Amino acid sequence: MFLDIVTGEKTEILRTVCAKVTKFDKSLAKLVSDMNDTMIKAKGVGIAAPQVGVNSRVFLAVLGSTTKNPVTVPMVNPEITYFSDDEELDEEGCLSLPKQFAKVWRSERVTVKFQDLKGKSSQLKLSGLDARVVQHEVDHLNGILFIDRLED
Ligand code: ZN
Repeated sequence: MFLDIVTGEKTEILRTVCAKVTKFDKSLAKLVSDMNDTMIKAKGVGIAAPQVGVNSRVFLAVLGSTTKNPVTVPMVNPEITYFSDDEELDEEGCLSLPKQFAKVWRSERVTVKFQDLKGKSSQLKLSGLDARVVQHEVDHLNGILFIDRLED
């Protein structure tokens, strides 16, 4: 099912520090499924719950999005436990900020810890675009948009 994407840099839900997920139930699975449909329709490589109006620490990230075998990974209660000092400058956009694009500095490599839809914990070491997408999506769960990270 497609959900409406919330837009606007001043919209309250996009500026909210989202609540931790504590119930790993059918409604979480349904939310993630609907977010996936919505992301595919919008041609995004990531989508966070606040972007569909839901105050929950969950997002989907498409890893390997420029390869032949992209994988969409739902991350619940994600936490970046390592940011490399090396940073890269690359262009970002956001489904919630239509037609806005800008170059943003992000760590080249990160380690992210998260839970799956059943609450099982794991971690991934990511680099390049995958690391960028995860940093962008974790920001959403903390009420941060990429335009906040632009230099003057
Ligand atoms: Zn975004």
